[in-house]
Amino acid sequence: MTTRTGRHFLQIPGPTNVPDQVLRAMSAPTMDHRGPEFAAFTTDLLTRLGPVFGTTGPVVVFPGSGTGAWEAALVNTLSTGDRVLHVETGHFATLWQRMATELGLYVDFVPGDWRHGADPEAVAERLAADTARTVKAVCVVHNETSTGVTSRIAEIRRAMDATGHPALLLVDTISSLGSIDYRHDEWGVDVTVAGSQKGLMLPPGLSFNAVSEKALAASRTSRLRTSYWDWGPIIEANSRGFFPYTPATNLLYGLDEALRMLEAEGLPAVFARHDRHAAATRTAVHGWGLEVLCADEREHSSALTAVLVPEGVDADKVRQIILDRFDMSLGAGLGRLAGRIFRIGHLGHFNDLTLAGTLAGVQMGLRLAGVRVDPGGLTAALDVLGAE
Ligand SMILES: *Cc1c(COP(=O)(O)O)cnc(C)c1O
Repeated sequence: MTTRTGRHFLQIPGPTNVPDQVLRAMSAPTMDHRGPEFAAFTTDLLTRLGPVFGTTGPVVVFPGSGTGAWEAALVNTLSTGDRVLHVETGHFATLWQRMATELGLYVDFVPGDWRHGADPEAVAERLAADTARTVKAVCVVHNETSTGVTSRIAEIRRAMDATGHPALLLVDTISSLGSIDYRHDEWGVDVTVAGSQKGLMLPPGLSFNAVSEKALAASRTSRLRTSYWDWGPIIEANSRGFFPYTPATNLLYGLDEALRMLEAEGLPAVFARHDRHAAATRTAVHGWGLEVLCADEREHSSALTAVLVPEGVDADKVRQIILDRFDMSLGAGLGRLAGRIFRIGHLGHFNDLTLAGTLAGVQMGLRLAGVRVDPGGLTAALDVLGAE
């Protein structure tokens, strides 16, 4: 084993780097989750959580990974045999629709090329053709973490509304919440699915469902509902500051601190910071003479950038060299993109010099891997970061 010095660069698009103050907050002694102190803590926490989702409605917090919150969104709103529309934006969309199939739903999977977001017109066409109104929900991944493409949720909602179809809109924001502009209420989303370990700067272990009134109404007749994920008892207990079963108390302490950080910076500034770092990253990639996977200018992710390696180069080999030489982890190509891309995470607890170091490591690693990249790529990115 090589001795490592300094901090590891964890530049995968989640789990992301956890700020020291969040780690410290989580090290506080676990409190009685049935006691009065906890009730006051939870009531304040839940009040401050809504704005991050852009909602005044309930946000249900689960001890669980993002995958659990996917399941919660489906089982609370749907019944066995219901039809749902999923859109193939990449690996995560593929996994979510597979879960829906396994739960006994009939999935219509709108095909995609993994370089574009969900097409609002394609969604509208499918809904317009469904004159019997058998489709109960449309499921879209907001920020497809496997490709670095962000779907235009507001436009999808408008296209759905234009058809007059009553389907619910379920959106996965696991890698966008707290990094990329998102508005649950304003955009008319029915269930927003989120996780703790990406934009929210926490370790893995918490997941979330923001719930519209329409989704809540659907949950009263859902026949897929299971007791662990059931929104009803959680929302009821939350109204008194409690949970029906033991919550992940110390992760909630971390969430409290992470919310404080987001509040201090202000969400518009948080989003602008991510946009700017993503733009500087693309400048580097283009300067190197490489291609970004996202093929639509309107859909570049501000949370991560997926970089295509030239034909004949193994992206996993590049990542291995960067890990061995510079102690930096980058995201692998997932599913059909394995070996073809690597992903640079630039979300969460992140600043200009973290990006400068990250891009320097990528540039050096590419050259060590024998990829002839123009070193002007890094310089061009630094010019973006250092602009007056
Ligand atoms: C990370 C991620 C998931 C999976 O979340 P887990 O916490 O690993 O279960 C799902 N969807 C997207 C978009 C993600 O980025």
